[in-house]
Amino acid sequence: MSHEHLSPKVSPQDALKFFRSIVGESNVLTDPSDLKVWGTDWTKVFEPKPMCIVKPASTKEVSTLLAYCDSNNLAVTPSGGRTGLCAGAVASAGEVVINLSRMNKILDVDTVGLTVTAEAGVTTEALQEAAKAQSLFFPLDLASKGSCQIGGNIATNAGGVKLIRYGGTREQVLGIEVVLANGEVLDMNVALRKNNSGYDLKHLFIGSEGTLGIVTKAVLRLVPKPRNLQIAIMATDNFTKIPQILTRASLAGVSITAFEFFTEVAHRIVLKHLPGARTPFQDIAPFYVLLEVEQPGLEPEIETLLEKLFEDGLITDAAIAANSVQFKEFWGLRENITESLAAHGQVLKNDISLAIDKLDDFVKALEELLASKNPKNMDLVLFGHIGDGNLHINYVSPKSRDSREFQLEARAIEEDVFKLLSKFKGSISAEHGIGLTKKKDLHFTRTAAEVAWMKKTKAMFDPKGILNPGKIFDI
Ligand SMILES: Cc1cc2nc3c(=O)[nH]c(=O)nc-3n(C[C@H](O)[C@H](O)[C@H](O)COP(=O)(O)OP(=O)(O)OC[C@H]3O[C@@H](n4cnc5c(N)ncnc54)[C@H](O)[C@@H]3O)c2cc1C
Repeated sequence: MSHEHLSPKVSPQDALKFFRSIVGESNVLTDPSDLKVWGTDWTKVFEPKPMCIVKPASTKEVSTLLAYCDSNNLAVTPSGGRTGLCAGAVASAGEVVINLSRMNKILDVDTVGLTVTAEAGVTTEALQEAAKAQSLFFPLDLASKGSCQIGGNIATNAGGVKLIRYGGTREQVLGIEVVLANGEVLDMNVALRKNNSGYDLKHLFIGSEGTLGIVTKAVLRLVPKPRNLQIAIMATDNFTKIPQILTRASLAGVSITAFEFFTEVAHRIVLKHLPGARTPFQDIAPFYVLLEVEQPGLEPEIETLLEKLFEDGLITDAAIAANSVQFKEFWGLRENITESLAAHGQVLKNDISLAIDKLDDFVKALEELLASKNPKNMDLVLFGHIGDGNLHINYVSPKSRDSREFQLEARAIEEDVFKLLSKFKGSISAEHGIGLTKKKDLHFTRTAAEVAWMKKTKAMFDPKGILNPGKIFDI
């Protein structure tokens, strides 16, 4: 168990009675099928075994629930849209899952200060729509946006496809309200763009994966809506050329809003599993780059850039979306990779990052490493937010393969990949987080001193260790 340090002072029956008295009978779930669904995330590796699922409707209810769990030594797993990819929201040892889905109100859109205030259970897509209704733009964008929640985005410091232009979640957060383990409500909601008055504590909670507090509210930055977005997919014959394409696009002065990449295998798998998917290319290329640019007026034309890249041998083919339907189709080829992989086979996902100028050498070393391992019955599928130095490495085997055997083989390779990565001074998680799946690998990215200070910080905010025990590190 990940929370053996806690000896509950109440029986599950008494705890359930209390929870029902706070959130109402129908908002405490104990049915085994509900526990299975709500006690896990996208990873599906660990068997969910929560005590119950509790769905509060207000900060006050979250506070009352946490104060009770803290004084009775009950472990709590905060839960949002459960799209996490590192088992951060998995409750596999009798935890009380506190799910924020009912706290889904958008409280204010400020069109002068360009901010939106929302409860943590609002989905990313709902926030985007609220911004759009005011002709504004919420720049956090990820393929899971229809399900993931603002609280989950903050807890994971989610990245997404627009980070290259607007930054990740951390850059969008102006203020948050958090409930601490003992039920204390910490209001860090003063949403000023400039505020140099002492420590900016909110940053400790961004990316803390539910281990320091439960985020209940946030004020987030909005930006003017990008105008005249254009998208192109380019084919190239060598990974080496991808960082060069990025440099050329930056130097040409085009206003990049996304720079993504995927391999031929990823492309093929999406074409197989995504209904209606179409490729703009007749010939197969080993690598593809998706470039989105904003072109409202006087910026250099994307066509001119593509012509130059073609002339200079950096790309072998390219297609620019001719209309809004094709625009969506092109994005679909990139955004549906994760879901298509899940439909295709068993997947172990890595989500690494490194300096862009080291990417090429790293990928060469990675290919050599895998060739030396010669894994049986396993494909390596690469894609990612390459403009941010973020590479998603996916080890994929057929569903028919024994899952334990697959996990053992993929994990062994993963460990070697992380060793290689640490030589390149990269990170084992660019955006998905550590959760349960990468806890044992934290040392590849963080020094012992850093982990020790993380543990001290945890002890300060959550002295009993009731919040998401066993995630990121053991205490
Ligand atoms: C198809 C697909 C595409 C994806 N693409 C991306 C991508 O491009 N970029 C990216 O960064 N991620 C991506 N993800 C991963 C995932 O969507 C993000 O990590 C997302 O931010 C998780 O939000 P959630 O609400 O689903 O959180 P959950 O999965 O429910 O929880 C994630 C973590 O946050 C904690 N948590 C949740 N809510 C709260 C809260 N209110 N307070 C405190 N802690 C909380 C949980 O305990 C857990 O540790 C993708 C996932 C899928 C399935």
